[in-house]
Amino acid sequence: AKNRGKDQVVVFDGAMAGTAKRRMDDEIALARAITDEQLVLHYQPIIALDTGRPVGAEALVRWHRPGHGMQAPDRFIPMAEESGLIVDLGRWVLHQACRDAAGWPHQAPIMADASVSVNVSARQLTHPRFLADLQTALAETGLAPERLILEITETALISEPEAAMETLHAVRACGVQLALDDFGTGYSSLSYVQKLPATILKIDKSFVDPISGPGAGTALSEVVVKLAEAIGMRTVAEGVESPEQATALRLLGCHRGQGYTWSRPVPNAELREVAMRLAG
Ligand code: C2E
Ligand code: CA
Ligand code: CA
Ligand code: CA
Repeated sequence: AKNRGKDQVVVFDGAMAGTAKRRMDDEIALARAITDEQLVLHYQPIIALDTGRPVGAEALVRWHRPGHGMQAPDRFIPMAEESGLIVDLGRWVLHQACRDAAGWPHQAPIMADASVSVNVSARQLTHPRFLADLQTALAETGLAPERLILEITETALISEPEAAMETLHAVRACGVQLALDDFGTGYSSLSYVQKLPATILKIDKSFVDPISGPGAGTALSEVVVKLAEAIGMRTVAEGVESPEQATALRLLGCHRGQGYTWSRPVPNAELREVAMRLAG
């Protein structure tokens, strides 16, 4: 028993050290990815449900990690947030998305007014340099502020509600739009949501999943659309995977949709073709 106890301790220590080392290797690799141009943005079209036409796209980051293939954000964004690398990563994403979107009007007339949505993490938003970085990105790329939408989550605002709120008002003052992402999955109170200077509410995929057609499985998303209407916000449904879901959401009064039924996220170079197909 003594021996076994000893072995277990050794195995445990070894596993812990291995995990810590892997963790550090991952962080060093991610830090390098930001400077070595291993990150790439894909864009997922956002569709106006009444016309069926694309009106914007959401920027979603991917990491071409040497020896590991293409990594989805769920594999490295949490690590970036915990380590603080999200500030540099987020600054790169914001700048690249503004640059790409500034080029869309030249790619296709249909995308002349298209907005670009960018995910912003809490640590990025509350960083002292965030507003300056935002203004630099807009100035250097020439993107009209009205074409930029920042997506923030409820949970992201909880840690420093006062500081976050101040920044959000300053963002709006620049002419940039705000969307509340993953609505319904957080814990903040409705009165707090109502105080946010956001004009767009993104209905989380978990509310869209149960919808099988008009009137079928729509109870929760109907509540969210009604709530958004009541507080004067526009709605975007995410994770729309079927034409039946798109129809049901349109009938509920949801304004926009995003999901595999129209397009998966695609590289910027392919966005023009996808937008032209969707425009018909
Ligand atoms: P999100 O903001 O909720 O983004 C939507 C996610 O749902 C994307 O996954 C997208 O590819 C996926 N999706 C879209 N339509 C469908 C559909 O019809 N069916 C299904 N099953 N999935 C769909 P992705 O690209 O893996 O991104 C995951 C999350 O990573 C994002 O969730 C966002 O929270 C985060 N993220 C992505 N890019 C960035 C970034 O640049 N900065 C920050 N801070 N977070 C990011
Ligand atoms: Ca998002
Ligand atoms: Ca979302
Ligand atoms: Ca989501």
